[in-house]
Amino acid sequence: MRLLEYIEQHGYEQVVACHDSSVGLKAFIAIYDTRLGPALGGVRMWPYKTEEDALTDVFRLARALAYKCAISGTAFGGGKAVIIGDSRTQKTEALIRAFARFVDTLGGRYITSEDVGTNIRDLEHIAQETRHVAGLPLALGGSGDPSVITGMGVVMAMKSCAKAVWGADSLNGRTVAIQGFGKVGTHTAELLVKSGAKLVVADIHDEALEGAKKLGASTVPPGEIYSVECDIFSPCALGGVLNSETIPKLKARIVAGGANNQLLTPEDGDFLHRRGILYAPDFVTSSGGVIALHHEVYGSFRPEFVPDLAMRVGEIMDQVIHESQSRGIPTHQAADRLAEERMASVGRLKPIFRTHRLSR
Ligand code: NAD
Repeated sequence: MRLLEYIEQHGYEQVVACHDSSVGLKAFIAIYDTRLGPALGGVRMWPYKTEEDALTDVFRLARALAYKCAISGTAFGGGKAVIIGDSRTQKTEALIRAFARFVDTLGGRYITSEDVGTNIRDLEHIAQETRHVAGLPLALGGSGDPSVITGMGVVMAMKSCAKAVWGADSLNGRTVAIQGFGKVGTHTAELLVKSGAKLVVADIHDEALEGAKKLGASTVPPGEIYSVECDIFSPCALGGVLNSETIPKLKARIVAGGANNQLLTPEDGDFLHRRGILYAPDFVTSSGGVIALHHEVYGSFRPEFVPDLAMRVGEIMDQVIHESQSRGIPTHQAADRLAEERMASVGRLKPIFRTHRLSR
């Protein structure tokens, strides 16, 4: 990858390579855009096979975060970090703290949080090295684990889609196939069960499925989740899962999940649209977390308002469906338009981002 050429062509502001051999840290931080505020995005720890795989992921995720923060009305730009390694065997406090020290060197241009392979305990360690971290426990003045409200937002987006497809937002009796039973998948599933939905779940790690079984879900091997007979397919694992191989297998009328970057290419969004499947754009569906983080960072978070904040995700999804129907374009294009409009119009008002986390 020709790095400078790539970031210039694709409009990224900055990429940082982080290395600390004393703790085995190799990480990248990418900042896509700071027009609306400091770049927010969690840190993912994943055993990427090559540096190029890690860079590709961090670039795609940073851009997605910018769109997510824009469409959800927050005062954040978009960024992301990836640590190369297996979180199950290679994650240590020393490594996480070394990563946090690199975040600190950016002086608030990038605010980190949790993602795949990291959790709220890691954020506590990060907070001991930098104040540019969000998603901290309530007891530490944070908004709590962002995956909880993310799960709520996913369900709100599903309800908005259900209303558009079936004329009523009830999920009672609907079958939802969930791919990935980690933090977001679990919180989404718990709410779906309360709403009367039936669940089919797949995960690459057997121990993750134990929790699913306790909720009464049936399970299938990871490769079979796409062809499950269901009403809603909910990707809650990694990106790129909606592609020319998987889309023809889908039986669902709606795709709505918490995973970032679900479409392998934008053309896959067109393909879903042609197949008559309503796709809830991932950066809308999974925006509950950034909405809560906005209130945490800007000092207005109140735990009792979390359900109200999550309802905002359903309202944004309604707006996207309306934009899609009125313009006759697929939902992923409609969501891009809304996010880009806000980045351009509001971003112009504020040449430099304001100091965040005033209270700390
Ligand atoms: P997690 O690590 O807790 O869970 C991910 C789960 O997916 C794991 O159980 C893993 O074993 C499973 N998985 C991975 N590959 C799979 C595959 N091919 N098939 C089936 N299962 C597979 O991560 P998370 O925090 O729940 O995040 C899940 C997704 O949601 C990610 O794309 C993340 O970027 C996105 N997201 C997370 C948050 C958050 O607050 N955690 C917020 C917004 C978006």
